[in-house]
Amino acid sequence: MTDRYFDNAATTPVDPRVLEEMLPFFKDDFGNANSIHSFGRQAMGAVDLARQRVADLIEAEDPSQIFFTSGATEANNWLLRGFKDIAISPYEHSSLFEAAKHLGKRVLTPDFKSIGNPEVLSVMTVNNETGQVWDVREWSGQAAAIHADATQALGKIPFSVAGLDYASFSAHKLYGPKGIGALYAKENPPEPFLLGGEQESGYRAGTLNVPGIVGFGAAAAIALDEREQNEQMAASLRAELLDKLAPISEKNVIGGAKTSPFILSISFAGVEGESLVVELDRAGYAVSSGAACSSRSTEPSHVLLAMGLEEIWVRGTVRISFGRMNTFESVNGLARTLTQSVEKLRTMSRRLAK
Ligand code: PMP
Repeated sequence: MTDRYFDNAATTPVDPRVLEEMLPFFKDDFGNANSIHSFGRQAMGAVDLARQRVADLIEAEDPSQIFFTSGATEANNWLLRGFKDIAISPYEHSSLFEAAKHLGKRVLTPDFKSIGNPEVLSVMTVNNETGQVWDVREWSGQAAAIHADATQALGKIPFSVAGLDYASFSAHKLYGPKGIGALYAKENPPEPFLLGGEQESGYRAGTLNVPGIVGFGAAAAIALDEREQNEQMAASLRAELLDKLAPISEKNVIGGAKTSPFILSISFAGVEGESLVVELDRAGYAVSSGAACSSRSTEPSHVLLAMGLEEIWVRGTVRISFGRMNTFESVNGLARTLTQSVEKLRTMSRRLAK
């Protein structure tokens, strides 16, 4: 019942066409891409094609600007470790937010005041919890270089690296495999974070994850063709869901001036987001009460707090994120179950309060 999976911002399944392209690189074409014999050359050829495909999707000038990593978490950590003076927005994913706090880097205030011309300014493109969209280029005059964590944008909304210095990506959000991503660097890659072999032009040591890289490339090629229709479908499904949820009282749609059609962050007064996730799960619907990476923690979301949301809304928030497997039928089923669950949980908490 994968049409009931509404947690596509957490991860997506591998597209069968992507898997098909990956499989040979686990078996017959298993070579180490850095070996000089034919097995190695075969693997490196596939890596080169994948790098080109990712470059095409992000509109990079040259594939050599792409450095494969184990995911966006590594790309973000690499950037943070690579620069002394880096400032990040308070809305960033935990792989920047928590890491920045740990490393003593500067976190901006929610209004982005006092950017202070750092070496690098990082503002994500699409927020993973709320879908809010930013364009870090808006602040390009206030920092020597700018970085966009575009993990939730790539292959979903229109995105190009034009005008950016750095960007982070992850394949598993666009129907590619987990454990592979990339850092785009226009000119000067950050100081290497993983040291060792000469892979990735000496900037990221470690035997290349050839099947993963091939999968990322295949997913990028598909996204280039199908992104627009997927985006339209997501927008229609999101609108349909909002329409069907209209009768529910005391709710709050969370987002910004511009929001990705792939994410609906919605809060219901008098309800705990986690309880709603559990209720929906019983009916086979998968949604999230926050970022999957932190949804097991009981701490309130730093993103929702930075937005200045009152506690009642922070507690009652669920994130519904759309993908290719969702249908109008499953959206209507979700709306019905959500309406019943909110009603049930509100009745229960009213009884407890008596
Ligand atoms: N940044 C954002 C905005 C994300 O949504 C995620 C994944 N939840 C990451 C970074 C981390 O990506 P990965 O899973 O590849 O480490």
